[in-house]
Amino acid sequence: MKNILIVGSGIVGITTAIKFQKSGYSVTIVDKSEPGNACSFGNAGVLGTSTCTPLSMPGIISDIPKLLFDDESALTIKASYLARNLTWFSRFLAESKKRNVSKSAQAMRLLNGPSVILYKALAKEAQCESLIKNNGYLHLYENSDVYHASKFAWTLRSQNGVTFEDLSAPEIRDLLPSVSEKIRHGIYVESDGHCINPKRLVDKLFEYFTSLGGKYLCTEAHLNKTSKSKLEVVSSHGVLNYDKLVICTGSSTKKLLENIGYSIPILPERGYHLSLKNPNVKPAMTIMSGDYKYVTTLMEDGLRLAGIAEFGAEKSAESYEKVTNKYLRLVKRMFPAIECDDASLWSGCRPSTPDSNPIIDKLSNFENVFVNAGHGHTGLAGAPRSAEILFDLVEGNPCEATDMFNENRF
Ligand SMILES: Cc1cc2nc3c(=O)[nH]c(=O)nc-3n(C[C@H](O)[C@H](O)[C@H](O)COP(=O)(O)OP(=O)(O)OC[C@H]3O[C@@H](n4cnc5c(N)ncnc54)[C@H](O)[C@@H]3O)c2cc1C
Repeated sequence: MKNILIVGSGIVGITTAIKFQKSGYSVTIVDKSEPGNACSFGNAGVLGTSTCTPLSMPGIISDIPKLLFDDESALTIKASYLARNLTWFSRFLAESKKRNVSKSAQAMRLLNGPSVILYKALAKEAQCESLIKNNGYLHLYENSDVYHASKFAWTLRSQNGVTFEDLSAPEIRDLLPSVSEKIRHGIYVESDGHCINPKRLVDKLFEYFTSLGGKYLCTEAHLNKTSKSKLEVVSSHGVLNYDKLVICTGSSTKKLLENIGYSIPILPERGYHLSLKNPNVKPAMTIMSGDYKYVTTLMEDGLRLAGIAEFGAEKSAESYEKVTNKYLRLVKRMFPAIECDDASLWSGCRPSTPDSNPIIDKLSNFENVFVNAGHGHTGLAGAPRSAEILFDLVEGNPCEATDMFNENRF
């Protein structure tokens, strides 16, 4: 039986581990923390089968002043961070060309499209089916200009096989009586779903993995180059043996690989969620504010708002206060009568690549070393399909999708 060592037990590591363990490999996961404690803890739970619009879209170049200097922008970039990571950001901007966007969208749809089906099957095996909902995704717009400008994104979705329905203002209010009168346009995607507790999902999948015989070591992994093409994994448990090594370390991947002189284009992108406990507004479906680019998901422990993203931002009391107030302002604008008992902010880093798609590949120059990381804004949705693509690659049966996620595309 072949030994697979997987570094990282976020949603990507755990879905990858299950895929290999179920297929007859002997899998050990190594994580410096408990499973699902990093980015996979705090996502918005969206299983966006329809999500295929990359972050770098046509027109982003004219948004640069806003990204750098406007605190109200959903996405911000610290100027000093941009200067330190010029190669990554140049590539990010280059990805906004229509031809590139069309390729990225295809790849995103391939990963995210089957997410609800794959999670329903996984959750059934792991006996946590109630965590997965299939209640759709409602995109709402106040500003008609923003709504009309979103046409390119909706055409992209449509070209990738997504079906959706335009809703009139009265139809929106029938669905969501508590929504603001300011909301004028809506687009509903019925096929999308969400997970009502992303951390509990990882916990249940981890339990399932161990019930299949999978092993887990809580320790930090370090990489050493022992020859031109060989890597050893060093930990507090000594050197860890493997036949195949898979790196699923999310936003830490760049740093981990830098130690062996390997550069991979995955930057940490800070995100925040605000959790509102006992809200009096409980939308069944996920809601996206098209105007302010944040999402609202009803979780089992309250309403979760997410979407603010920052490159180069550090955690600080000041930024926590600023982001909390911003979310509270925005949600009041969407649901004027909203009330809750308590609001708490969480933050963590997304693993982001210039084209919003992960790297699922063998590391060039190294024997038996693979990577599945860089899922950006849609890693919850894309994880199970990315595990299948990686599995086929390791087995020596690369599928047609392999090229879309290889490292050489950058
Ligand atoms: C606010 C927010 C909202 C989001 N909303 C959504 C959403 O609605 N839908 C969606 O699909 N996606 C969403 N995402 C994105 C999604 O959460 C991520 O893409 C996904 O969680 C990445 O998973 P991962 O397993 O690659 O990384 P992580 O969850 O970060 O896991 C990486 C693991 O590697 C471990 N590790 C790192 N280095 C080492 C080392 N040297 N040794 C041992 N262990 C190590 C870490 O401890 C960690 O457990 C959101 C993200 C954020 C921040």
